[in-house]
Amino acid sequence: MNLNLIKYKDDFLFIPLGGSNEIGMNLNLYHYKGKWLMVDCGVGFAYDSPGIDMMTPDISFIKNIKKDLLAIIITHIHEDHIGAIQYLWNDIGVDVYTTELAKNFLLTKLVEFDLHKKIPIKIVNSKKDLKLGPFNIEFLGLTHSVPEMQALYIKTNQGNILHTGDWKFDPNPVIGEISQKDKINQYGIDKKIDAIICDSTNATTEGHSKSEGELYYSLKKIIANRKGLIGVTTFASNIARISTIARIADEVNRKIVLAGFSLRRLYEVGKKSGYFKDNNNIISDKEIKFYDKNEILIICTGCQGEPLAATRKIANDCHPTIRFSKGDLMIFSSKIIPGNEKKIYEVYDIFAKRQIDVITEKDHFVHVSGHPYKDELIEMYQIAQPKIAIPVHGEFIHTKVNAEIAKSQNVEKTIQPENGMVIKIDFKEPKKSSQIGSVISGYLGVDGKNLISLDSLIIKQRRKLAYAGIVVISANLNKSLKLLDKPYVKAFGSYDIEQEFVEDMIIDEITKIIKNFSRSNGNSKFNFIKKIGSSQYNKISNQIEKAILVAINKIFKDIMGKKPFCDIKIWIS
Ligand SMILES: [Zn+2]
Ligand SMILES: [Zn+2]
Repeated sequence: MNLNLIKYKDDFLFIPLGGSNEIGMNLNLYHYKGKWLMVDCGVGFAYDSPGIDMMTPDISFIKNIKKDLLAIIITHIHEDHIGAIQYLWNDIGVDVYTTELAKNFLLTKLVEFDLHKKIPIKIVNSKKDLKLGPFNIEFLGLTHSVPEMQALYIKTNQGNILHTGDWKFDPNPVIGEISQKDKINQYGIDKKIDAIICDSTNATTEGHSKSEGELYYSLKKIIANRKGLIGVTTFASNIARISTIARIADEVNRKIVLAGFSLRRLYEVGKKSGYFKDNNNIISDKEIKFYDKNEILIICTGCQGEPLAATRKIANDCHPTIRFSKGDLMIFSSKIIPGNEKKIYEVYDIFAKRQIDVITEKDHFVHVSGHPYKDELIEMYQIAQPKIAIPVHGEFIHTKVNAEIAKSQNVEKTIQPENGMVIKIDFKEPKKSSQIGSVISGYLGVDGKNLISLDSLIIKQRRKLAYAGIVVISANLNKSLKLLDKPYVKAFGSYDIEQEFVEDMIIDEITKIIKNFSRSNGNSKFNFIKKIGSSQYNKISNQIEKAILVAINKIFKDIMGKKPFCDIKIWIS
């Protein structure tokens, strides 16, 4: 870290620790008058790290400023904004502010970690500013693929920031309020938005995102004209989509089955928060057998091809109760999140091989994005009229294009952030806003209930094990360094256990090495070893282990062309 916090005590600083190099893992910090605010605390998908499916941002920097951190504010219920709380909160320890829906959702997750009684979650009031130290925060509702997405209008005595969160301008979001464009427009006219920190996800997509409301007609047309079992897989958090599908199911006289834990959990949270009425049309998967295929519509988890989710189980025909067969239909009402292509195409393929039809957003209008396209970004810059634009929530290409869009709308200063950058926002002279340093940033992998560095030895070992397997070797020697019994050799994932000659070669090599040691040490040396005690035995066994390692590596290099992980233990007793 090369940031002298004392020097910048009275300055307004912005530090993204997650979400500014990727779509996912949003975590942003705002600083003013020595106090800090954290906005969002999300997770992202992890790739290429065995055993790790999710990651969180590295919050080492936050540990330094913990005593001055006032709160965590969560903009909405998506995992890339809320999903890391249960992993990181113990190191942060401040109040969490969010909406009723996000609170109910978060609590269901915190129960699993026994944190539901520990973390103070406070509900924000969209009609009243939240005053936290030098920050006055007003919550502005924006449409997204979930209701209660709250943009933060952060006011200070020096200037004001609009942190958009995830948004789109959807005139018919199906569930929840429409965007408070008029307020933003008024603040823009009054020149009250100095800087905007804005969603970049779809900055590279021309035009205007389609409305959730429009999707109803397209999905209904597909569903109403089909016979047989129909499944619709979507993001388990997409309350509006679930509501649209449920409405269609009602209208075409199909009972709804919710397949997948996270979907049933969201349904309960949605009901508690007033978004789903008690729906008599929903039946459990165990009741499917009482109905004809034409009377059922299944909403399922796993639109990203996740290995344990309902969609893949249905594809593999290993779901406990749901059976799809030739001529049935699975609709992917979702997009492919970059990185998940392989998993998703695998599932398409399995369905195709079983003659089950698949419809995706590539073939039909079955999905709308929750993020603004280029025309909506232009509109946002036109109504908010910020002097400074800092695009976030995107990979480099997205934030770059979003910055260019801002420039095209006469925004005086644009800064393309990266995780860990410390950006000083100059309200008096916006052009002088710039990066003034950087802090530690990076990723931590969610490994079961623990967090580990993705550069850790554990991950390196797992990669090696996954790549070349492991060979475990042990041998017992007497004090004359003679083998007491046949060396133990066990291989996992390194060579075919049918290849007994490999094992024989290893045992021969070990025996040869030990004999050489025994001979070269001789009886006189053995007597010497005996005199100086067990530490010398350790030294000798280490030397034998090293010699065996070199020989075994050579054998495997010759046979397999690669070196497995070797665990060798020589006992002298
Ligand atoms: Zn979102
Ligand atoms: Zn997001």
